Amino acid sequence: MSDTIFSKIIRREIPADIVFESDDVLAFRDVNPQAPVHVLFIPKKPFATLNDVSVSDSELLGKLLLAAAAYAKQEGFAEQGYRTVINCNEDGGQTVFHLHVHLLAGRHMHWPPG
Ligand code: AMP
Repeated sequence: MSDTIFSKIIRREIPADIVFESDDVLAFRDVNPQAPVHVLFIPKKPFATLNDVSVSDSELLGKLLLAAAAYAKQEGFAEQGYRTVINCNEDGGQTVFHLHVHLLAGRHMHWPPG
């Protein structure tokens, strides 16, 4: 896959407000937040979309979601609630082609999403 702005964040070539890092996962605040809390969880290994993840990367996908849940618990909004979102390709509204999980919290979320 081609390089993206998120790969540049992983390599520290552009700044980001990083809130969590492990060997496999990086999390940073979204520059255009859609809720009081809006953090992106990305695998350091680049996949363009969810379609590009294979079974051999199942553990990594799990780590992404578990990192988001752990952050929610750490920050104290897990019980109140939050939303995780993975946008995929054009109809999903994906704009950055490096797989990421949005974690949104701090307000009541609407359903269905727009
Ligand atoms: P998506 O539309 O699901 O691909 O989400 C991409 C997200 O990345 C959007 O919510 C953008 O606001 C966010 N974004 C784009 N560039 C940056 C950046 N340099 N730092 C943090 N978030 C970014």
